[in-house]
Amino acid sequence: MTGNSAAKAGSSQQVIIIGGGLIGIATLYELSRRGIGAVLIEAENELAKETSFANGGMMTPSQSEPWNGPGVERHLVSSLFFPGAAMKLHWQQIPSLTSWGLQFLRNSWADKYPKAAQSNFALAAYSAAKTADILQQYQPDIDQSNNGSLKIFDSKNNFKKSLLTTDVIAKLGISYVELTAEEVIKKEPQLHEAKNWIKGGIYFADDSVADARKFALFLSELAIKAGGEIKTSVRVGDFISENGKVVGVQTDHGDFQGAVILCAGSPSAALAVNVGLKLPIKPVKGYTITLDAAHLKSQMPKMPVIDEAKHIAIVPIGQKIRIAGMAEFAGFDHSLPKNRLQQLKQLCARIYPDLSSQFDWETAVNWSGLRPMSADGVPFVGAAPLDGLWLNCGHGHLGWTMALGSACLLADMMTGDKPDIDPLAYRYGR
Ligand SMILES: Cc1cc2nc3c(=O)[nH]c(=O)nc-3n(C[C@H](O)[C@H](O)[C@H](O)COP(=O)(O)OP(=O)(O)OC[C@H]3O[C@@H](n4cnc5c(N)ncnc54)[C@H](O)[C@@H]3O)c2cc1C
Repeated sequence: MTGNSAAKAGSSQQVIIIGGGLIGIATLYELSRRGIGAVLIEAENELAKETSFANGGMMTPSQSEPWNGPGVERHLVSSLFFPGAAMKLHWQQIPSLTSWGLQFLRNSWADKYPKAAQSNFALAAYSAAKTADILQQYQPDIDQSNNGSLKIFDSKNNFKKSLLTTDVIAKLGISYVELTAEEVIKKEPQLHEAKNWIKGGIYFADDSVADARKFALFLSELAIKAGGEIKTSVRVGDFISENGKVVGVQTDHGDFQGAVILCAGSPSAALAVNVGLKLPIKPVKGYTITLDAAHLKSQMPKMPVIDEAKHIAIVPIGQKIRIAGMAEFAGFDHSLPKNRLQQLKQLCARIYPDLSSQFDWETAVNWSGLRPMSADGVPFVGAAPLDGLWLNCGHGHLGWTMALGSACLLADMMTGDKPDIDPLAYRYGR
């Protein structure tokens, strides 16, 4: 990999990709594989160092519902007064969220939300199939497992509500099984100590898990082999426009000429403003704690367990357990407050009391990441309303799940090939 290679000014490439997270790397791979000359520009000194660094690793088309479901406004308002709220709005963020926030709330209405869930599912399922093909072909060592995922509920009411939303995407082909509390424990026996409070569950057989960062790095190697170029430690400051057309980017290592694809995660919105675009994308902060679990051996859970109401998932990734959760509207803040980490630890102990007591919490790796969340919960994939500029950003809580599918969809649109799925739902200005 060209990893830390210094960028040369004046490089002339056909396509410039801004951002070396899962989405930018998948885009570079897909274009390079098709013989299109492309250079990826990443501000950090290595790839996948931002939101794609230590995410939940769940490839879950089953979780296609946007997070602004009906009634989200009640949660957000009450979260202002409750520091431990799983989905938390911080007071000081309210001024920066006005326009995006109103769109976020409008999209939670019953006539919009199911459509967004279906659009996400179409892309996520397509992407999961594309990813499975690559993994089958190359068998990379990325801690993959194909045991499905399990949603658990501590209230009959939430269980019922979740079944209704699952039904919305089930119409498009998702397979799921409704489980009683006893069946939940049979499916994941390590949950036996939570049997007192689990009221039911939903099992999604087609979901899978892998280390998304390892996948991103593996894909970057394939992209380079196919002719793709990567420049790290290079920050894009602005676009270069001529006669209303984007013809390149200005960076702190000189200018680059070519058509541009914006894959910069949460900062995409600020970059897009430079060419007059209003991309409704805001950062939604989440946390992970990664624990060594090699000692668990036969006690290792088989599949991710998701407690939707608490916004938490406990995910076995190879020999590790990763606790992923929370959704905070906290701007670009990356801090790791002790009370949040403690809360995740307690939620883990609620689900797996015995396993939790066996973990070495002193050596746990704590991380926070900023999900690039669009106001309707659906990513932007396609042409910007400006010649020479393309979008692939705003994948929110599903960026690993949707990475390869989004890259294929965009590459089809750029080359004029007929896309496998309808691109309309992901267009700018929808
Ligand atoms: C706690 C948590 C758990 C998650 N769990 C899952 C999960 O289980 N499954 C799932 O599918 N998704 C999950 N996600 C979501 C997923 O991680 C994101 O959707 C995905 O990483 C977004 O990828 P990206 O490439 O768009 O953004 P990023 O990974 O943030 O990449 C954008 C890149 O652009 C670079 N950049 C920005 N500005 C510039 C600039 N001016 N010049 C050059 N480079 C620039 C950044 O440095 C960064 O590397 C989770 C996210 C979080 C936070």
